Amino acid sequence: MRLARLPIAACLLAAAALPVAAQTLYPLNRAEILAGSRFDLKVEFPGPAEAAQVRLTLNGQDHARVFGKAATLLADEDGKGASSLILRDVSLDKAGRYTVEVSDGTHTRQAVWNVYGTPARPVAKNVILFVGDGFSLGHRTAARLLTRGVEDGKIKGRLAMDDMPAMALLTTQGTDSIITDSANAASAYTTGHKSCVNALGVYCSRATGSLDHPKVETLTEAAKRQGLAVGAVTNSEVEDATPAAMVAHTRRRSDYNDIVKMFHDSRIDVLMGGGSPNFLPRSTPGSRRTDDVDYIDAFKRSGYAFATTRTEMNAAADDTRTTRLLGLYNTGNVDGALDLKFLKKGTVARFPDQPDVVESMKAAIKVLSRNKKGFVLLVESARIDKYSHSMDAERALYDTIMLDNAVRAAKDWSRANGNDTLILVTADHSHGVSLVGTVNDEAPGEEMRNKIGVYEDAGFPNYPAPNAEGYPERVDVSRRLRFVFGNTPDYYETYRPYLDGENVPALKNADGVMVANEKYKDIPGAVLRPGNLPNRGARAANQGVHTAEDVILTATGPGSDKVRGQMENSDLYRVIAEALALGRSSGSRK
Ligand SMILES: [Zn+2]
Repeated sequence: MRLARLPIAACLLAAAALPVAAQTLYPLNRAEILAGSRFDLKVEFPGPAEAAQVRLTLNGQDHARVFGKAATLLADEDGKGASSLILRDVSLDKAGRYTVEVSDGTHTRQAVWNVYGTPARPVAKNVILFVGDGFSLGHRTAARLLTRGVEDGKIKGRLAMDDMPAMALLTTQGTDSIITDSANAASAYTTGHKSCVNALGVYCSRATGSLDHPKVETLTEAAKRQGLAVGAVTNSEVEDATPAAMVAHTRRRSDYNDIVKMFHDSRIDVLMGGGSPNFLPRSTPGSRRTDDVDYIDAFKRSGYAFATTRTEMNAAADDTRTTRLLGLYNTGNVDGALDLKFLKKGTVARFPDQPDVVESMKAAIKVLSRNKKGFVLLVESARIDKYSHSMDAERALYDTIMLDNAVRAAKDWSRANGNDTLILVTADHSHGVSLVGTVNDEAPGEEMRNKIGVYEDAGFPNYPAPNAEGYPERVDVSRRLRFVFGNTPDYYETYRPYLDGENVPALKNADGVMVANEKYKDIPGAVLRPGNLPNRGARAANQGVHTAEDVILTATGPGSDKVRGQMENSDLYRVIAEALALGRSSGSRK
């Protein structure tokens, strides 16, 4: 019977692989487009098209009349044997529903776009968007327990991000997959358009070059048009996906050298994080550039103060003449809170004076708030994701506490400065993380597995009371949170925090198979866990992967009433655009 079913499956596969009869049109059907925002329009025909036969209309009007210029027909795009119609850098100023129809004389395709205007005046002066990369419900709950504790069954004191009036669930899937990466997830927040894995500020078309895909406007471009200052603060490399989404237009998030140029050309006012090698000319030792451009020098010549340490950052931010600031504090990622403040592992010995995300954010706000019209700031706690990939629970949770500390500082700043800042806190995607109880070293027996307390046996962990910053000063306590990862490579489960440095769960062996890292084999109580992710081929996993669950968005401040219920991640852009009146019908700003 199994054999008899095969041909059916094969037919279905063949049908799915056939080219779709109609054209592909970008922006995609059901796109939400900010009135006045710039975008590229592209039509991909399934085969060669005759210029004389091609027709492109919006609400029945020829596109050249609507946009004031005509699209170009690429007869044989990138030698792929098919034609494309491309019209770059156009906008629709009038809000409304647009039915776009395209025909090559044989096939006709329709898409509907919703072009939305924004109120005439902004309701918020500033917007601070917090992204906990990979920040999931499990992280939130565990961080709350670590930093607040429980008394009489209730949490003692709230997280700053919990103490917000508005909340929504955001979906995270993209145009190519139910699973997103940080690039298309962040791009949804900073453009309002859905895209595909690895893409920033573009739709994923069939173009060959990563910079040739149809662009959509970024939040930085829209905010700059209104005279607002813009900043991005992270503890990843600044070229990494989330901060890059503020300015970048590329199909490939790894285009770091191009992304540095895009940051510079965008005139973003504050940019802070790690990742200096892509700013240095190729002749400089340690450079990762392929050209001889010295981007640190270019930023300086464009009027930026430059900082490589926390001390230099604070001095630059305190100087009232500083209105532009580039801070690069590490060659790679800035160390996370557990290493930076307690364990001193990671790269802390090499970079002993790195700011944490809270300090960087405060310096950024000082600089950006010198723009009297207001500012937009992205603040990313990036390593929640990276430490969740590496299945390093304590490091991920300390960086979740750091995220909340930054949110608290932003709320305090807003309260003291006019209360006209919209504060949004969310994640770009989730991880398969879960808090299942505690692990108690003093429980009877030998096997660590049987020291896991579930239900009433979990009780409460015995971390020391948190310090003034909300961090317990030790993670290697005898009864600790049992925080588990649902998708894994083969690895050794140690049931303990990684005091000697970030966990490296799996490595590729000589046969190219991903296997558990033997480094942890002899830790007392360690056991080998077979993974549930691919261990061979291009997608062999050496760590955990992103998951498809919704993420939580909480918000406070003017405009936060638009955050409610269940939303698409791309809807967050409209919340920001409306709060700041970024759309065409916004009229003049005061
Ligand atoms: Zn990730």
